[in-house]
Amino acid sequence: MKCITTTQYTLAINGGLYGCINGKRGLRQGDPISPLLFVICMEYFTRIMNLVAMQEDFAFHTKCKVLQMNHLCFANDVLMFCKGEYQAIVLMLRGLQSFSNASGLTTNAAKSNIFSASMEEQDLQNLCELTGYKRGTLPFRYLGVPISPKKLTIMDCEVLVDKMTVKIKSWGTRNLSYAGRVLLVNTVLTHIHTYWASIFVLPKKVIKSIIGVCRCFLWDGKVYSNKPQLVAWDLVCRTKRQGGLGVKDIVVWNEEAIAKYVWNIAAKTDNLWVRWVNHIYLKGRDWWQYKVPTDCSWYWRKICSYEFAGGYIQNQWLKANGVYTIKSGYDWMKGAKEDWPWRGWVWTKLNIPKHSMICWLVAHNRLMTKERVYKMGISQDSLCEICGGAEETINHLFFDCPLARRCIEDIQRWLNIGTRNLEIQGLGRRMTRKIKGKACRAVMIAALSATVYHIWRARNIAF
Ligand SMILES: [Zn+2]
Repeated sequence: MKCITTTQYTLAINGGLYGCINGKRGLRQGDPISPLLFVICMEYFTRIMNLVAMQEDFAFHTKCKVLQMNHLCFANDVLMFCKGEYQAIVLMLRGLQSFSNASGLTTNAAKSNIFSASMEEQDLQNLCELTGYKRGTLPFRYLGVPISPKKLTIMDCEVLVDKMTVKIKSWGTRNLSYAGRVLLVNTVLTHIHTYWASIFVLPKKVIKSIIGVCRCFLWDGKVYSNKPQLVAWDLVCRTKRQGGLGVKDIVVWNEEAIAKYVWNIAAKTDNLWVRWVNHIYLKGRDWWQYKVPTDCSWYWRKICSYEFAGGYIQNQWLKANGVYTIKSGYDWMKGAKEDWPWRGWVWTKLNIPKHSMICWLVAHNRLMTKERVYKMGISQDSLCEICGGAEETINHLFFDCPLARRCIEDIQRWLNIGTRNLEIQGLGRRMTRKIKGKACRAVMIAALSATVYHIWRARNIAF
């Protein structure tokens, strides 16, 4: 305990070290090495609690008896549990006190709560007076997620959608391209919910609103939007190789993350939760033969309802060396799809991301050309914005329009390649077929993508 009770602080100013301040109250949060120190410290706490458990008068919580578990901690977040008997509680509190005496760390009464089930009212009141802790109600938060014996409500998950909304609003002032927004959806927004989705079965409505937020942000840069989405969400959720944008399918990902728990239970992986589930529910039985009791919790029933449906043979997962991973489950669930023929043109390394995005829309024939707008009944006519001489389809705009022809011809002359047949389905391939070497080909493709992007820009300026 000495290393955490005798802390000293020195200030580093302009490269020199100054001063020597003694930390009088032990460990502080925010100290760069405090996570490590907390771990060392809580190991001491664990040992004290193990001693408490060995006392004759101590009684475990009924659900934790077999595993002899009386506390859980993550850094400074501690849960302690025992049978609701006065004697056991006092022993536990004594353990906590001796830890405080040794380490200088005390509990914050304002942030600590007592939770009880069917204890005498008088005992409970005495206990609250003795400790100064308040009585808590479920759900409470542990490690950022709500702990509740019931099914998660939409209210519980609101914080998740709120977090996304706040993020999007903070980006709102920036003028982001499609490519920038795809990146933010794939990194920041996805990561906000994956932590929860790897722990809970999220309610369907919540998943729906999460997808809604992601979708509005992707197509319009806002939290709410009436703008039509250019490409179906299902297609967006495919990998780039398969013609999508590599956005995670939240519904499937959530299912496969929960399946990971099921797999762990079935494989009897050595971790605390699996051992606990084994003792409380399975009681040593084999998972594949297990029948769910009718009186168990909603959550357990939900977990049990998961089926790997043909994804495994004799406890061996069909992919990834027989061991189930969320990613392999996700890929398996999404199913194998054909490679998208345009992937080599759209997602080349040399392409500038915003050029890639426009090319992606062109390749899917999803760009808002006037021909499409006219069909939707928004525009009065479908004539080309630049020349006005023909219907504005993708083929016309990029390859037939006099402006586009001139651009492409100039670019071709500049790159020293000659292709007569100008139409989108074969241009990329024809342009690059004769070129040898990967780098050269990548340059050609990048030039073509840039041309497409700039023609589109010129047309939008004219619009
Ligand atoms: Zn035209």
